[in-house]
Amino acid sequence: MPPGDVEDLWLQDTIHCDNLRTAVEFVKGLQGATLDDPSLGMSDGALHRLQNPPHEQSPRVVDKVTRLAIDLFLGNPSEATYETNCRAILRFQPDLDLMSYYKVKSLVANLTGIESVIHHMCVKSCIAYTGPFVDLDACPLCSELWYDQFRLESSSGLEKVPHQEFHTIPIGPQLQALYRSPESASHAHYLRSESHRVHAELDHAGSLDQYSDVLHGTDLIKAFEDGRIDENDIVLMFSINGAQLYAKKASACWIYIWVLLNLSPAERYKKKRVFIGGFIPGPNNPKNIDSFLFPGLQHLVALQKEWLRIWDAVLQREVESKVFLALITADGPSMMHVTGMVGYHGKHGCRLYCGMQGRREHHGTHYFPALLKPLNYNVSGCTHGDIDVKNLLVPSRKRYHENLRIVILSSNNSQYRTRCLETGISKPSIFSGLDPSSTLRLPHSAGSDIMHLAALNLTDLMISLWRGTIDCTRPDDKSTWDWAVLRGDVWQDHGRAVAAALHYLPSSFDRPPHNIADKLTSGYKAWEFLLYLYGLGPGLLYGILPDRFFTNYCKLVLGIRLMNQHRISEANVRDAHRALLSFAQEFELFYYQRLPTRIHFVRPCMHLLVHLPHEVLRIGPPICSSQWTLKHTIGNLGEEIKQHSNPFANLSQRGIRRTRANALMAIIPDLEGNGSSGGGLPCGSKDLQNGYILLCARDKHPKSLRECEAEALRRFLPTLPETDGFSVRRWARLRIPTGQICYTTWKELWKSLEKRRTARMVKVGLCLL
Ligand SMILES: [Zn+2]
Ligand SMILES: [Zn+2]
Repeated sequence: MPPGDVEDLWLQDTIHCDNLRTAVEFVKGLQGATLDDPSLGMSDGALHRLQNPPHEQSPRVVDKVTRLAIDLFLGNPSEATYETNCRAILRFQPDLDLMSYYKVKSLVANLTGIESVIHHMCVKSCIAYTGPFVDLDACPLCSELWYDQFRLESSSGLEKVPHQEFHTIPIGPQLQALYRSPESASHAHYLRSESHRVHAELDHAGSLDQYSDVLHGTDLIKAFEDGRIDENDIVLMFSINGAQLYAKKASACWIYIWVLLNLSPAERYKKKRVFIGGFIPGPNNPKNIDSFLFPGLQHLVALQKEWLRIWDAVLQREVESKVFLALITADGPSMMHVTGMVGYHGKHGCRLYCGMQGRREHHGTHYFPALLKPLNYNVSGCTHGDIDVKNLLVPSRKRYHENLRIVILSSNNSQYRTRCLETGISKPSIFSGLDPSSTLRLPHSAGSDIMHLAALNLTDLMISLWRGTIDCTRPDDKSTWDWAVLRGDVWQDHGRAVAAALHYLPSSFDRPPHNIADKLTSGYKAWEFLLYLYGLGPGLLYGILPDRFFTNYCKLVLGIRLMNQHRISEANVRDAHRALLSFAQEFELFYYQRLPTRIHFVRPCMHLLVHLPHEVLRIGPPICSSQWTLKHTIGNLGEEIKQHSNPFANLSQRGIRRTRANALMAIIPDLEGNGSSGGGLPCGSKDLQNGYILLCARDKHPKSLRECEAEALRRFLPTLPETDGFSVRRWARLRIPTGQICYTTWKELWKSLEKRRTARMVKVGLCLL
């Protein structure tokens, strides 16, 4: 066993604390997983297919009527609208033999081989009856019974109807479906070609010119070098997040997804390529997430042990793949549950486990990562000297494992609590049950999350400081806060200026920020915050924030803009590192000023920020492992089901349907472009190839040009024929390879200024350090 390893811990006879015992049972349960274990819940048919993937080329052509039924199924999110459309078509052509919704649904399930597995759970969402909970009769946390007692008793114990169930969609069949057509399989060959290219560049130049993927980080490069990952293997990222379906009532719902790193960054985050892993329905937040993740992870571990057999339509042969889990991503609160760390308000709250100690206020229980020691301060356990931000430790697996051992071997509850505080670990993560050679392992597998960090946490901190709404601990006095300038009329004017900037943001920037003074507390979206703080802010706050606060803020903007890029050069990493470290140091001097009453200004996001540049070197650009993908998945699935009477059950059904539709489109690429999941060309458009697509409106008929116009056009395009009087057809819009859309003046001039989005983006290279 390698030094500092923890495999022996799962064999301990005596573990004194209940929650540790339960966590270890889940880890052990995972280690024993096999694909044919009935507790996984896969049907015999699905299991047989998983172990013997079909070799034949997918059925590219189905008969016309079946194709029509599949199109209708993909295009109609509900059974009712499917039936309505079928009736309309049958009125037009009564002799058509259209399948029922049920039949086409089964056909799609058969073609894709994807089915969900169902497990039971506490009706209040505390736990799932899996792993060590499988032999219970009632929830160990709230005592609600597993089964409907009336049905159980009236049937003399025969009818076991659970109060609530949840769905898991095993990842294996989803991966197999992706490789069944040459089109989608060739996309998944990116990992092969890119890993070869990366190693060739490293051999030749010694380092990479730029980082544009997780594969470019040292952690995965090393995993390839030491043979933990092979070119035939599957490399995944796991992502989990909770969401409230309704703002005003308990409606928590958790979803987890898998992102396939074998696909290129341009491909893998698309709605049609994201694999849904499972749902944890509300109404409450789960109290034991391990129990809900257990079935999906059991399947993963079984694949790691038995390998996944994939028919690769490009190679035209069966490939045996190990399934490697590279990264685990989540927002702050969810991360704490999946990694078993104490969370960001703990004394050792860093999710990357760098070991930095926090400090707390005199009467506070939360710790904050303040670098500087406050003046006149003697809170026990927090009186360490100033911390040099340039010398933070990097995440260490050895330190993590040594500390995990200390926590698990606690001899009683009070010792356990002390050890949690001193180590920052509360329990082993369920991910410890994975095959150790098939994962980066904690803490390396914990991804950073730039979405929550930049778009939500830092924006909330800066805005609440500038508005003077952050908590003020007496004897601190808000009247001394010379940075708190966004108040009264200044704030209202600023809000209007934000809304008025709409016309100057290119439409490719998506949703422009609303008036922040009006909407700050009512649904301001993460994307709006991002554009506000790092896009509009430097222009709109110039002359409003006092100079030194403004200059300090610009360093944050510079650093985040560099870190948010899809391609980050080494020079970018160095610049961002300098800017963000300087921002963090000055932030403490300007705002917190070593005052014990202001320790809470230094929120956890200030600490995670300074890790970002180093994280680029380790796991590539933060955007590659951010929560945006999952947020979009939750967002568009959530929107689809809000009106439903049983939103949680419906959400699972929508997710399964989406998964099957995606798999079907991977198997039969001709289907793409149909239905809500399709990514085809819009009606009336014309594909010019190489990523250029003309979009409507367009002239109905070609129009002949005046001679002067024809001359001008000839000069611009010398390849045009020299003939007299040629005619042209005008188009309103052009989609370019980046996905951005260019608009022509022909139609734009018809719109009022308020409806136009005109903008020129100029990138100015200037460093304010
Ligand atoms: Zn319960
Ligand atoms: Zn840290």
